[in-house]
Amino acid sequence: MYINGEWISTVDYVELKSPYTKEVIAKIPRATKEDVSAAVEAADRAQQAMASLTAIERANILYSIAQAFAKKRLEAAKIISQESSKPLKFALGEIDRTIETYRFAGDEAKRLVGEIIPMDAAKTGQNRFAYTLEQPLGIIAAITPFNFPQNLVAHKVGPAIAAGNTIVLKPASQTPLSALFLAKIIDSTNLPKGAFNVLLGSGGIVGDALVENDKVKLITFTGSPAVGIQIKEKSGLKRVALELGSNSGLIVDRNVNIPYVANKCVTGAFSNQGQVCISLQRVYVVEDAFDEFVEEMIAKTQDLKIGSPLDETTDISAMIHEKEQQRAKQWIAEAIAEGASLLYGGKVEDGILLPTILANVDRKSKVSCQEVFAPIVSINKISSIEEGIEAINDSNYGLQAGIFTNDIQTAFTASKKLSVGGVVINDVPTYRVDQMPYGGVKQSGTGKEGIKYTIHEMTETKLVIWNQEGAL
Ligand code: NAP
Repeated sequence: MYINGEWISTVDYVELKSPYTKEVIAKIPRATKEDVSAAVEAADRAQQAMASLTAIERANILYSIAQAFAKKRLEAAKIISQESSKPLKFALGEIDRTIETYRFAGDEAKRLVGEIIPMDAAKTGQNRFAYTLEQPLGIIAAITPFNFPQNLVAHKVGPAIAAGNTIVLKPASQTPLSALFLAKIIDSTNLPKGAFNVLLGSGGIVGDALVENDKVKLITFTGSPAVGIQIKEKSGLKRVALELGSNSGLIVDRNVNIPYVANKCVTGAFSNQGQVCISLQRVYVVEDAFDEFVEEMIAKTQDLKIGSPLDETTDISAMIHEKEQQRAKQWIAEAIAEGASLLYGGKVEDGILLPTILANVDRKSKVSCQEVFAPIVSINKISSIEEGIEAINDSNYGLQAGIFTNDIQTAFTASKKLSVGGVVINDVPTYRVDQMPYGGVKQSGTGKEGIKYTIHEMTETKLVIWNQEGAL
């Protein structure tokens, strides 16, 4: 592990296995509660040094992290593929985004501005001059998921450094190697010792100890709603930012280019085996377009290459754990028993769940109303756009939604009525770039990521008021 700028070992190790080959790829230390305290203490001691860095110094550290990733692009991507089974082409895409995310963070470090308050807008505000300062919040605990082990970490580490904070990172147990790779990169920058720490080990022990530590000022968590809710309940008065799951939906109107739309949908539904928070899970297609859409979806899904994550031509590989794959298969079986038709996939071949297309899925089936987080997409027929909007909104989640339409009024109405954090017109809900505000409503979370937005959750706004009356 990486604590106070030192590489730390422990007595207790666990084997890390490749989700695809099932071979042991590393032995990973497991942090104890004492290690958690040591990391928080190191982050606490580093606060002064961190807060005294200038904006340009913080920006340059972030740019040098970006540069190191650019130099080691393939190495970083291969680590992601090995430990999480993300096909290499998507892992390379993730590293490209990670580079951008750290660059955006560097830019934002130089734009961290307060505001001037018009005090004399109040009767008693005459002769007062006031402004705000955005000061570092302190120690940030970042708890991250397996599915984007570099870029989602960058969304926390980047803004935390940009704002002058110190960090303790707890990555997902299945993706510790990416976190250690980042620690090596950060170790070679000018970041003060102790300002960035990595703890490995189970969420139950390390995560809990971090959440309960009084010195931590903000817990920034990306992961499942179940864990997010637990964290919120245990966090007391700490700030908590939660980026949780979804069951993202898309509406397909008539008179759109169906082969183009189906192509986008195949990528949106099956990238990284559907283990993406904005993975396309539910598609609602107007009657006139339904048959052509289904035909195109099946044809394009058949073209996907199934295989090893380290092969650059692979589109789909193994899910993160065998038990997750079993759960997904069980949900498919339940949906079929509840009336859905299986149009493609639905079975495991060579340890890989085939991309699966279901039609006429009951809204109450788990593959529809819960987060499926697997390569499974449901396609349902609708008789009006309103029906599609109502179906998408009939969900406990609301991260992003999409609509393909050539009718301006329809697009406008959908953008107003869909209960989600982001509406994508003429693309799948799976679309994201890293500077945009990103975050959901309902059980999809609280707060927004996208560096400019996160950074303000990671600062303390201090007001300074000058009384000019007494000036000589
Ligand atoms: P997860 O099981 O919730 O785990 C996320 C992190 O929380 C891991 O580091 C995990 O550690 C840790 N954790 C587990 N129990 C904990 C506890 N009691 N206290 C504190 N931390 C704890 O999620 P996942 O399976 O890795 O990721 C998939 C989920 O993330 C999906 O729901 C997906 O939608 C969501 N996600 C959301 C976004 C977004 O931006 N909205 C982006 C990506 C993913 P261990 O690994 O050791 O259990």
